[in-house]
Amino acid sequence: MVWTTTHGYPGIGLKRELKKAIESFWAGESNEDDLSETARALQQQHWREQAEAGVDLIPSGDFTLYDRMLDMSLWLGAIPRRFHKENSLTGPSLLFAMARGTAQSVACPMRKWFDSNYHYIMPELDDFCPGAGEPAGSRSGAKAGAFDPDPTDLVLAFREAQAGGWDTKPTLIGPLTFLALSNADPSAIPDLLRALGPVYGLIIAALAREGADWIQLDEPALILDHTSGYWAAMEEAYAAIAAKKGASNLIVATSYGDVAEAWPALIDLPVDAIALDLVHGPHNRDRLLHSVFPSDKTLIAGVVDGRNIWRMDLAAVLSLLEVLTQKISPERLALAPSCHLFHLPYTIERETSLDPGLADRLAFARERLEELHILQVGINGGRDAIAGALEENRRRFSDHAARPGQTNSAVRERMQKLKESDYARLPYAERSPQQDAALRLPVLPTTTIGSLPQTPDLRKARARYRSGKMNGAIYRGLLQEKIRKAIGLQEELGLDVLVHGEYERADMAEFFAERLEGMTVTQHAWVQSFGTRYVRPPIIYGDIQRRGPMSVQETVYAQSLTTRPVKGMLTGPVTLLNWSFARPDLSHEQIATQLALALRDETMELEAAGIKMIQIDEPAFREGFPLKRGEWPLYLKWAVRAFRLASSGVSPQTQIHTHMCYSDFSSVIASIEAMDADVITIENSRAPLELLRVFGATGYPRGIGPGVYDVHSERVPTVGEMRVLIHRALKVLPRKNLWINPDCGLKTRRMKEVLPALTNMVAAAAQVRDELD
Ligand code: GLN
Ligand code: ZN
Repeated sequence: MVWTTTHGYPGIGLKRELKKAIESFWAGESNEDDLSETARALQQQHWREQAEAGVDLIPSGDFTLYDRMLDMSLWLGAIPRRFHKENSLTGPSLLFAMARGTAQSVACPMRKWFDSNYHYIMPELDDFCPGAGEPAGSRSGAKAGAFDPDPTDLVLAFREAQAGGWDTKPTLIGPLTFLALSNADPSAIPDLLRALGPVYGLIIAALAREGADWIQLDEPALILDHTSGYWAAMEEAYAAIAAKKGASNLIVATSYGDVAEAWPALIDLPVDAIALDLVHGPHNRDRLLHSVFPSDKTLIAGVVDGRNIWRMDLAAVLSLLEVLTQKISPERLALAPSCHLFHLPYTIERETSLDPGLADRLAFARERLEELHILQVGINGGRDAIAGALEENRRRFSDHAARPGQTNSAVRERMQKLKESDYARLPYAERSPQQDAALRLPVLPTTTIGSLPQTPDLRKARARYRSGKMNGAIYRGLLQEKIRKAIGLQEELGLDVLVHGEYERADMAEFFAERLEGMTVTQHAWVQSFGTRYVRPPIIYGDIQRRGPMSVQETVYAQSLTTRPVKGMLTGPVTLLNWSFARPDLSHEQIATQLALALRDETMELEAAGIKMIQIDEPAFREGFPLKRGEWPLYLKWAVRAFRLASSGVSPQTQIHTHMCYSDFSSVIASIEAMDADVITIENSRAPLELLRVFGATGYPRGIGPGVYDVHSERVPTVGEMRVLIHRALKVLPRKNLWINPDCGLKTRRMKEVLPALTNMVAAAAQVRDELD
């Protein structure tokens, strides 16, 4: 009989219980026992829910207080030396110290997790690569330092589930993924893999002794390009792991895409089951249909989507499974979601204010379990056994297809009529002098990225306004007061280009989603972005169109208060798309085009209202890069075009800015230029040499502001530090192009940090201007 399993369940709780428990622990309002009690209750709840939904093999160890990669670092004893010195740190305090830093030690770096908006804590392995710091070549043959495995958490989770009557599958990040996503130099990875094999072996042995029937190692990194150099070492590592599995069965789980050329290495691993993503890996599907899956292994088929929220077409999935069961015996087939379910919100049940027709078509994590169960019954008992469910599934699809608002003929017609000239402005070389003449800015103009600190009173007022407890006029009055203060403050600081502060926005994607037809926001559909920061991704369900001006009122009000230019502030089409759940019936290119058209209307209205500079933020531009390099050109083509479509309607005198952050940009510079913005402000201060090396090599012929101030830290940078960064930038960038700004928006900082930091930034710019004279 075909069975079912999951790779992990969202941990944040129905009412964000985890966030509340952790933040109160941080605030010193609760202790470690309170925190572990909440964590325990949540895990129990998740096990129970999955069991009740009919999942046959439920994971343990998939729950985390902060991040699973960070957990893995701790379980392997891969703790950077600076935290050893802080003796008092143990348990969750050590975990949170590594994630967030302490007064003495900086935090471990945070990186984007695959092609998602989740950020993981990067394993820092400098102490485990004895050759680190030496040239890459001389490092081979080096033995890794002492990992110090500690499987206690995994063992306890397993036992706890067992006590509740659930025989779970301990689940951990596999060695290849742990290393490929660490800060280790690629050349050191084979040796580290060999060193980690026995270390993992100890953990597996401990779990096997507990009597775990199945143990899962997550290896999503296998779908990345360029892992082939690691396979030989990976085989050795897995041989060492398999030697310790005792009576347990091992699973290697891949997700997020095709395993591509890793296939032969994967099916040869000494494991008992392999999980493949058949939703986001169409070639995985073809490979299964056209080649031989090893008869001694179980296939765990990822058939329900762990990355998007639209219900599955159950009949179509069943057709695939019917073919698969002709090739693979039902005993060796299991069904699963395509990945860990933490990318999905918890349950659609709480979304009482969504349009019922739309809600009817959505499946969050809990609803994915229902789908899994229906599919299991259908493949084991035949379609008749699920006739009712199939009928209901069909109805959901056809009802939705007929919904008004999904197709908007005006939008479709506009898309049809797009011409090449809609994507082009007057060439930069010609429009740039016109802008200079219109704007008359000093050299090294200073600015910020858009948002200013949001205070608790503002958040409270917004919540009251949204729930109808504060009337609109009072709320808008409050916003105006904030804007007025912000403009005065920026003038006093001596900034050259001002912002209105984005006080009306809780979230830069949600804000626009609420104001666009074809998009909607949710009340409770939280998804972890990192740590206790959760976001509610908007849902794109229909054709997108502007209902009316979205940002004009606040921007124009701000501009009315000053003679200095105020930047209009929009979230770009690519970012809006990448941070939303996208409709499945249009291509990303088409959706981005619709978003771009709506934003184009907004830019033109801002311009007509006298705004001379408009910033279109694209912080998620880089994160949308497909995982396979081969697919980059296609993505870049439409993503760049969407930005151009959004920004090319304005006159040559209007200056278009963009902003990017959160990533390494070496691979994007050429595309950034193709976006044809006049100025880009870009995160830089955490890795200044890297970005400037790229510019040193290629130059950058337009306005550019590599951030001189890390907004993610409470630290106030000194004038001297920023002066150094400005001088470094001037070595590779012409002075007429250089802008001076922080790395990113200041929304989450406090005024008491922002004021001195911006004072210093303006002073640093002034000093360098003097030095240049
Ligand atoms: N304009 C936005 C802000 O300042 C940009 C945020 C971002 O890049 N994530 O908040
Ligand atoms: Zn940013």
